[in-house]
This record gives sequence, C-alpha cells and structure tokens, in this order.
Amino acid sequence: MQTINEALLKLEKSKFRSSFHLKKRDIDYINQKGIDVIRRHAEDFVRTRLSPASIPNDGKQTPTHGHPVFVAQHATACCCRGCLNKWYKVPKNIELTKIQQQKIVNLIISWIEHELRRNI
Ligand SMILES: [Zn+2]
Repeated sequence: MQTINEALLKLEKSKFRSSFHLKKRDIDYINQKGIDVIRRHAEDFVRTRLSPASIPNDGKQTPTHGHPVFVAQHATACCCRGCLNKWYKVPKNIELTKIQQQKIVNLIISWIEHELRRNI
C-alpha cells in the first residue's frame, strides 16, 4: 500500500496526469468556500459518482473542469473506476468501502493542497 506522497510522486511522472492544474477560478472558489467544504464536496462526488458497483457511464462521469475536485480527480487518476483499477488496483464492479472512499478523498485533497502551495 503506497502512501499519499508516493502516489503524488508517481502521478507527477505521468505526462497526462501532471497536465491537470487548478485555474485561478478554481483557487478563488476554494478560498471562498474553505477546504473543509471542498472536502465535503469531494466526499459527495466520490460516494455518488465513483462508489457504486455499477456505473453505466464509467469513464465519462467526471467533467474535466467546473469544480476543483473534478480537476483533482483527473490529476490523481480518481476520475473513474477504470483509472482507479489501472492506477491503484481497486477492483471494478464492487461497491467502494468507506475506507477506500476516505483514501481517495484524502489523495484528492492532498493534491489540491499541493496545487494551492504551488500558486502562492
Ligand atoms: Zn478515469
């Protein structure tokens, strides 16, 4: 089981994953809402869009922009069950456990915090 930092380092080496960044609009939104609210949004998105055992539009359920968590999901390969399976060996077609959901949210929020520090 890799740590969050190990996961982030691996993602940075991917040309595709490392091409995602927060825009000023996203950063303004985070600053306006506060990171705790953003974490709750991430929890909701992960629970409703990633966790079900069966997701008919898997691979297309996460927009590439419109919310900072969506951007973070693509940057961290937590955008769909296909990517979760490829990157983290999370089995498909089984509902995500609470612990798996928490780990995904922690990775998403850590990535966002790194992005915020990059932009100071
Ligand atoms: Zn994906």
